[in-house]
Amino acid sequence: MPPLELYTPGHNLVTDSLIMHGMVRYLVWAGGARHGSVERIGERFKIIIDDEIDEDKAKRTLKTLQELSNATIEREEPIGLIIKKIWASNVNSTKQNLRSWFDSLQSAIKEFKTIKIYADIDHAVSSNEGRRSSKVNSTVYLPLGPIYGKYLSKDYVVKENVQYMVCPTCFLLANMGLAYGVFILRINKGNRISSIMVSLVPSIKADLIDIMLVQRAFEYKYNEFNLDIPILAVPLIALSFGETLYAFENMDALIWVYEKSGNFMRIPNYIQVNIEGLLKTVSGIKYYIPQWPKILNECFLKNEDGPTILAKLNEAVINNVIKEHIYDIAREIIGLLNVKKDEKNVCRPYLSVAQNLVNALLET
Ligand SMILES: [Zn+2]
Repeated sequence: MPPLELYTPGHNLVTDSLIMHGMVRYLVWAGGARHGSVERIGERFKIIIDDEIDEDKAKRTLKTLQELSNATIEREEPIGLIIKKIWASNVNSTKQNLRSWFDSLQSAIKEFKTIKIYADIDHAVSSNEGRRSSKVNSTVYLPLGPIYGKYLSKDYVVKENVQYMVCPTCFLLANMGLAYGVFILRINKGNRISSIMVSLVPSIKADLIDIMLVQRAFEYKYNEFNLDIPILAVPLIALSFGETLYAFENMDALIWVYEKSGNFMRIPNYIQVNIEGLLKTVSGIKYYIPQWPKILNECFLKNEDGPTILAKLNEAVINNVIKEHIYDIAREIIGLLNVKKDEKNVCRPYLSVAQNLVNALLET
């Protein structure tokens, strides 16, 4: 048998990265994700699978997702970790939206036939997807891809009043990507709510098994905070909370934000950063400071200054200038851990790890 070649449909980089992760998870379920590769081609991905796949097996796992969607519709609240995570991405979370989102998901699973529709190199065009009205296709809700332009009023209404539609299979796989391949950070601050999504993708090419490992770090993961978090702090936070990912080469983080303030929703453009250096640094920090995720949670993400310091650290690592800035950053971290308001003495005991942090940062 020649290897199976699949292509993401060509909607936009964000939606295609979700669909790529959805496809990889489906291949894992079908027992065929051990040998093969994922290659970035512009805004799309090409997946080569060298193993035989058993789609019946994958479809049995899909059934569980369908049952959870049905339960969610029935009880009008998200049921199960996967659905809860998908729903955490949506800042416009009315009951009506919940119903229509999971109605689309459960019918997409019901209609699903085969992953092989993506053997078509031009899937999105061939199946008439895009900004055109359609009775058979599903709306791409905003967390599934910032493709609407910047400002919107309530209920996803855009100026031209035509939503971006994708076929049920693209909708299903994008949802799976959100659940299994993305880290979600949700921020609730007064009447401003936002969700920040981070997806890791190969900048050039990766083994299928590496993408699987990325998913192990992010699956089921979402966190909620009630303070502002600069977007540049997000890759560091995402990688700190997940399972440690050792030095993958050529990995990019795609980050997109969905914000709601009063009745208005906003999708700023996505950003893309190479995180090869950051992966090494975070592995080093976790090695020297096993309690690092706890320190993040209890100190950095409980204090308004914390996320700003994390953003500086992240930026210095990504730009490869950490050695020049290390003592400034270390001083700020010591100030944060030693803060006077820390009456319960939660952070001060961590002061002793500051030296370990400097060592970890100097070593990577
Ligand atoms: Zn499609």
